[in-house]
Amino acid sequence: MTRFPHLLEPLDLGHVTLPNRVVMGSMHTGLEDRARDIPRLAAYFAERARGGVGLIVTGGYAPNRTGWLLPLGAKLTSTAEALRHREVTAAVHEAGGLIALQILHAGRYSYWPASVSASAIKAPINPFRPRALSARGIERTIDDYVRCARLARLAGYDGAEIMGGEGYFLNQFLAPRTNRRTDRWGGSAANRQRIAVQIVRRIRAEVGSDFLLLFRLSMAEFVEKGQTLTEITALARELEAAGVDILNTDIGWHEARVPTIVTSVPRAAFTEFTARITRAVSIPVCASNRINMPEVAEEILTRGDAALVSMARPLLADPDWVRKAAADRADEINTCIACNQACLDHAFRHKTVSCLVNPRACHETELTLLPTRRGKRVAVVGAGPAGLAAAVALAQRGHTVELFEAEERIGGQFDLARRIPGKEEFDESIRYFTRMLEVTGVTVHLSRRVTAAELIAGGYDEVVLATGVRPRIPDIPGIDHPMVISYAELVRAEKHPGERVAVIGAGGIGYDISEFLTVDGHPTLKLDEWKEEWGVSLDEELPGQLTTPRPAPAARDVVLLQRKSGPFGATLGKTSGWVHRAALKAKGVERIGGVNYERIDDAGLHISFGPKRERPRLIPVDTVVICAGQEPVRELADPLRAAGVTLHVIGGADVAAELDAKRAIDQGTRLAAQL
Ligand code: FAD
Ligand code: NAP
Ligand code: SF4
Repeated sequence: MTRFPHLLEPLDLGHVTLPNRVVMGSMHTGLEDRARDIPRLAAYFAERARGGVGLIVTGGYAPNRTGWLLPLGAKLTSTAEALRHREVTAAVHEAGGLIALQILHAGRYSYWPASVSASAIKAPINPFRPRALSARGIERTIDDYVRCARLARLAGYDGAEIMGGEGYFLNQFLAPRTNRRTDRWGGSAANRQRIAVQIVRRIRAEVGSDFLLLFRLSMAEFVEKGQTLTEITALARELEAAGVDILNTDIGWHEARVPTIVTSVPRAAFTEFTARITRAVSIPVCASNRINMPEVAEEILTRGDAALVSMARPLLADPDWVRKAAADRADEINTCIACNQACLDHAFRHKTVSCLVNPRACHETELTLLPTRRGKRVAVVGAGPAGLAAAVALAQRGHTVELFEAEERIGGQFDLARRIPGKEEFDESIRYFTRMLEVTGVTVHLSRRVTAAELIAGGYDEVVLATGVRPRIPDIPGIDHPMVISYAELVRAEKHPGERVAVIGAGGIGYDISEFLTVDGHPTLKLDEWKEEWGVSLDEELPGQLTTPRPAPAARDVVLLQRKSGPFGATLGKTSGWVHRAALKAKGVERIGGVNYERIDDAGLHISFGPKRERPRLIPVDTVVICAGQEPVRELADPLRAAGVTLHVIGGADVAAELDAKRAIDQGTRLAAQL
């Protein structure tokens, strides 16, 4: 009956049966770090358990202080700490779920001076050099892992996951890149694997057979001197023999320079690696990375590439993901668009994690959308992210909502974002909102540029102004020249670029537009093309699975300019900015900073440098694309206020500077929660 028979099939693990094949993968939310956040953590996990996920894995807890991700970060080392976790495990069990605690020793990724590793080799992404553990230190660390698993059991967890991938402590022992030891813990693959295998064996002996044991294994490391796939396969067999129930997987070290999770990575890009491990062992293997919709998961499971799928971000985006898939309501899933803006970018900046498309994630106790006691008639003007979020949440609460949109389709600036190569996932948000407007009964008026007079005549109880932004037109002599086009005209194919293009403005949109221009004609990369572009190989003997990248040539010459003289791409996301920078570099995009825009004429764009306007230079281009930021559209505000209308201005219409969809959706949802 269901479209997803494999996904929804229970998995019998002997002492316990998982109700389906969905594992909520570990994601450090920041709520793990403070005891006072335990009620929030319990509510966050319980909501996902109610949503039907088969097994939840918590964020990482260190087995000792040296393994901390951060000083005073999450750890599980005492009975008192374990007893506090019972609030979390009880909430999940009450909601009908199963939950395992992840044991994560950060090794040289630990952000403090007392960090330890296999060898004293500093990570390129951490200023602190680790100390090499002594043989005695290794034995003590193994004891700490065992204690942590015992405490997890005491805390009421159904199992534990040992983090052995992503370049963390155990991975640092496994790979020659970080393990230069000459004792029994280094050298041969068997020696490097010894600590991981011993930890599993000792934990299994300690916790017994009725406690789930997962091991998270890196399928491909994407770093020089990483393990080979042959070594990883041998390790998987050893871990099975040592007592692991499920092999969970991940791709790439944090310091890797191959993208593994950002939105431009094709869906399910790495399951070929997982399939090799699946074939080598008899325990269930769980596929991960860029799996965000049920049909993607079902395909992986049908092919037999894995027995389970792990998703972390998609369950931040929609806690009811499994329930919706099971009820044939997959079109109501709020899809993770892999932007990283509110999850990983927050985690790496030590801020509490949330989700761009679901601002309630990790804020379940404080941002609630309860049914209203007094339904109102509300007009929402503008169907960009801010207006859409507000309209749907208001209707969910029981208000009667009319949504007005000037264009013939919803989405606002997101309708442009989704047309950028590598950002196709943004289309899913528009699909989600389209469907939710129907489900919640919002009356939608498309192609309707509503006026203040119409809104006043409508007699609404409240009006929400979400009219967004318009591109800024900078004051440059020659800005009216026919070679000048706006980013919106370019993306909507209303005007066409020539062979040599200057892009004015190097913010998020300037970067997106430069990529758009360089890959003209090859909009969406197929998996094989993407692997070639980034130098990913399936050769089992190749350390780290890295080969020489072979990017396709750029479709045209592109020059990206900014007035500031600081680094380029400074406003891009912490975990995605490097991918955009690398992509433009691979396409040979020239970047020129610290410029003054002098004029535009038939010869091209004339610039100079510095406050004295020195070193005049002509950039001989045939097209200039303007990506110079935005200005708010809120002409309706004054007349509506003057007429005494109860008005709320949100999103870009409120503040255009530093606007992104994260703020727009958050503001729309929070407003709806209050009205
Ligand atoms: P808008 O999206 O501007 O929507 C306003 C809507 O109101 C429009 O549809 C407009 O037609 C309508 N409207 C205006 N006046 C009226 C009227 N009188 N009557 C009826 N309708 C009216 N953000 C991110 O966070 N991450 C990204 O990766 C990202 N990538 C982007 C890539 C591109 C190429 C672009 C252009 C933008 C990108 N953004 C991204 C920015 C993001 O799309 C905007 O921040 C967001 O759309 C702003 O939302 P908003 O609802 O406030 O306004
Ligand atoms: P932005 O990030 O503010 O960048 C605007 C750019 O225009 C800046 O580089 C600025 O640089 C330049 N500029 C500003 N005023 C100018 C003027 N008068 N003349 C010439 N240049 C001028 O805005 P955006 O690129 O339009 O992006 C809008 C929002 O969408 C941002 O919040 C962004 O984060 C978001 N977005 C995010 C992503 C993502 O990948 N996460 C992608 C796209 C968009 P100088 O002043 O140095 O010239
Ligand atoms: Fe997915 Fe973006 Fe939400 Fe993170 S913030 S869970 S990447 S949609």
